[in-house]
Amino acid sequence: MIHFDNSYARLPQGFFARTRPTPVSSPRLLVLNETLAERLGLDPAHLASDGVEMLAGNAVPDGAEPIAQAYAGHQFGGFSPQLGDGRAVLLGEVIAPDGQRFDLQLKGSGKTPFSRRGDGRAWMGPVLREYLVSEYMAAMGVPTTRALAAIATGDLVFREQGGLPGAVLTRVAASHIRVGTFQYFAVRDDIERLRQLTDHVIDRHYPQCKDPLELLDAVVARQARTIADWMALGFIHGVMNTDNMAISGETIDYGPCAFMDAYHPDTVFSSIDTQGRYAWAQQPQMAVWNLAQFATCLIPLMGEEEAAVEAATKAVHRFGPLYQAAWLERFGAKLSIDGAQHQALIERLLTLMAQQRADFTRVFAGLAHGGARDEFIDRDAFDAWHADWQALSPDMALMARVNPLRIPRNHRIEGAIESAVAGDMQPFRKLLDACTRPFEARADWSDLSTAPTSSEAVRRTFCGT
Ligand code: AMP
Ligand code: MG
Repeated sequence: MIHFDNSYARLPQGFFARTRPTPVSSPRLLVLNETLAERLGLDPAHLASDGVEMLAGNAVPDGAEPIAQAYAGHQFGGFSPQLGDGRAVLLGEVIAPDGQRFDLQLKGSGKTPFSRRGDGRAWMGPVLREYLVSEYMAAMGVPTTRALAAIATGDLVFREQGGLPGAVLTRVAASHIRVGTFQYFAVRDDIERLRQLTDHVIDRHYPQCKDPLELLDAVVARQARTIADWMALGFIHGVMNTDNMAISGETIDYGPCAFMDAYHPDTVFSSIDTQGRYAWAQQPQMAVWNLAQFATCLIPLMGEEEAAVEAATKAVHRFGPLYQAAWLERFGAKLSIDGAQHQALIERLLTLMAQQRADFTRVFAGLAHGGARDEFIDRDAFDAWHADWQALSPDMALMARVNPLRIPRNHRIEGAIESAVAGDMQPFRKLLDACTRPFEARADWSDLSTAPTSSEAVRRTFCGT
């Protein structure tokens, strides 16, 4: 029995559409996150048995109030006034034993009033990718939505590649409120609902804030830290549209995301990002762009317009220094040096890595455990850098706690998905275990920390959900 308390569904009309997940033909549990279930105060044994019907969308439990949330969004810079949950349903909110509130959302659960021409479904590939990558982010301490379960539906989903096995992901988040949720009401000049949404968000996520400007400040600060976390892992989100930026600061929407193997700041994976808008090095600027859209939504709530614009602009500009400080802290910690004092040394290393296409994760893990030199072709250049770094007496034990041995490498994710589609979940489970214990060395996991050969490397990812 799950106790729901659905604060979003209690908001007035206009915030969502009441809807129900569409049943699937033969649900089968692919993965269950028992640790997360316990953290939420849910019974893993129940979820793995009778609960499967709920996780598949075949049964709506007592107390759930399924809704599709309304939102708008800038996608690659172009504005869509109406997006909304087109293939997801918010079942409701649960309060964890520690008092924290979480959304339980089914993704891939069928059509909703916001589906437009879409089928409301997801196939196993993107569901397993999101499961793995979001749980890796959580293991690395990055603010993120979580994955509670993945269910195979037994139905086919039709995509470019043909008929693919369908799946449903249960996503858990502090909330699914996005920059695009604010935009939905702002573009309609619906000041009343904009105010209600702002009050709801302050109450729920930022109770210390007393007005929209303070909220803006707080969201800017949280996003600055989240994006710095991404950068320190070589993570490329790939689709940083305003509908994919959570107000809570959690990383959300793991569509075409990927981690870099070989380091280069211009790296892009998403097949639709032809201009490199969301390349690795662009991410902080794109976050600022999104936050400027958020600020624009709040201006009507901030009193006299000219003063409001000035205050909002200043707030958005605080992202720069906050992000820079967070970045220096992260990369300083990766090298066990004072980042602010030795920025030039950090940048020298990154430049060398880019020039030689050194593997991002292996270089930093190698600096902590030995072996980084092997990642470079021009060893003399590396040795010169290394000597200057060693002169600062870095603490390798500390570095071993922040530089992961593993990332979910693209070629491994694709391999695991291929096996899962063929009915073998073992490679996925192994990858998930290894990636959610990213600092633990184990002989049978060593294959998961090697870089792909050039024929193994996967350079393109697809939204394809
Ligand atoms: P995304 O690219 O995942 O951020 O999705 C952008 C928008 O498209 C959201 O409103 C989604 O709900 C919608 N969407 C994506 N795929 C589908 C689908 N298969 N069926 C219905 N809506 C979809
Ligand atoms: Mg999205």
